[in-house]
Parts: sequence; C-alpha cells; structure tokens
Amino acid sequence: MVKELELKLSPSEAQDESIIRSRAIQKCRLPADTVEEVHLLRRSIDARGKRPAIRLRVAVYAGERYQPEPAILDRFRMVDEAPEVIIVGAGPAGYFAALELIELGLKPIVFDRGKDVRARRRDLRAIQQFGEVNPDSNYCFGEGGAGTYSDGKLYTRSHKRGNIEKAMRLLVEHG
Ligand SMILES: Cc1cc2nc3c(=O)[nH]c(=O)nc-3n(C[C@H](O)[C@H](O)[C@H](O)COP(=O)(O)OP(=O)(O)OC[C@H]3O[C@@H](n4cnc5c(N)ncnc54)[C@H](O)[C@@H]3O)c2cc1C
Repeated sequence: MVKELELKLSPSEAQDESIIRSRAIQKCRLPADTVEEVHLLRRSIDARGKRPAIRLRVAVYAGERYQPEPAILDRFRMVDEAPEVIIVGAGPAGYFAALELIELGLKPIVFDRGKDVRARRRDLRAIQQFGEVNPDSNYCFGEGGAGTYSDGKLYTRSHKRGNIEKAMRLLVEHG
C-alpha cells in the first residue's frame, strides 16, 4: 500500500530523516512495523509566515518498497539510419519533440533561424550596449529558444497537456 501525504516541518526537523519518518507514520495512521519506507517526493520552502517552514510531500510504503522507475534515457536508441523528421525551432518545444521522435525510432533534424548559443551572447550584448537588434538572434531567437539565458528556474501552469513529469525527469537525467 502507498499513501501520499504532506508534512510541514521546521527547517531543522526537515534535515532529520528519523523525524520525517516518524511524522509521516503518525500522520498516515499505519502501524509503524508495516511501514517499509518513507520516500521523499517534493521539498519546498514556505516563507510566508513569521517562521519559515519546510513542506514535504512523501509517499509512505507499507508492505512494499519504493521501486525507482527505469531511466527514460535508456529508451533511446541510435536513429542514424531511421526516417528523418524536420523540426523547426530549437526551443524547449522543438527539443522535446525531437526526444519524443527518437523514442519512437525516428531521426529528428532540428532547424533554427537564429545563431548557436555562444554566438547569441554577442547579439545580446549588442542589444544591451548599443540597442541593436538582430531579428534572427536575440533574447527570443536562436539555439535553445527564449529564456536560454534566464536564471534557469522551471515554471509551468500546464497540467492538462501531457506528461509534465516526463519532461522534468528528462531534465534531471540530463544533469
Ligand atoms: C528572457 C526570458 C527569460 C525566461 N525565463 C524563464 C524561466 O526562467 N523559466 C521558465 O520556465 N520560462 C522562462 N521563459 C519562458 C520560456 O523561455 C518559454 O516558455 C519557452 O522558451 C517556450 O518554448 P518554445 O520551444 O515553445 O518556444 P521558444 O523558446 O520561443 O523557441 C522557438 C524557437 O524557434 C525558432 N524559430 C522561430 N521562428 C523560426 C523560423 N521561422 N525558422 C526557424 N526557427 C524559428 C526561434 O529562434 C526559437 O529558438 C523565459 C523567456 C524569456 C524571453
């Protein structure tokens, strides 16, 4: 049996695995000796109150153990000789479409109107220093698409457009 639940702990409590385990067991009301594992799903900082808290989402496994899913990257095979599919745009949508195609055994060819990521830096400097905009290579156009030079946080409100977790896992698997 697997029960998912939320825990709110102080920052010091959230460092201690035995406290996380005992709070989770307490909250899910399962006999402690049936709980095989408390697996951490998500950790976030809640700084809205006077004292910051750590919110954890955990899965409590009773009578079974957590089995990690096999890596998505292991599903990819060489596609050198496979039929080609053209993708226009080397932003996140284009790259994830390319990965889907590789998973399906097809060979993606990704085109972008802008420059590669290194050359784009010079075009961004031209915008910042001289106000000169290259219409094909700027903050929005070029390898990696918009947000290539952002601070790297990942943000989406989309819950109904496919498997968001798969995209997140792929990013983690790529380091
Ligand atoms: C400055 C900035 C910072 C951002 N920071 C964040 C962030 O921190 N976190 C976050 O989650 N999101 C961020 N975003 C939003 C995020 O970048 C976009 O949601 C995301 O890039 C959209 O992906 P996409 O693949 O749909 O489109 P895009 O990233 O826009 O990619 C489209 C690609 O298609 C290419 N293209 C367009 N027309 C043609 C054509 N005719 N021929 C060939 N190629 C073409 C473009 O050059 C571009 O590379 C940021 C956006 C910007 C602009």
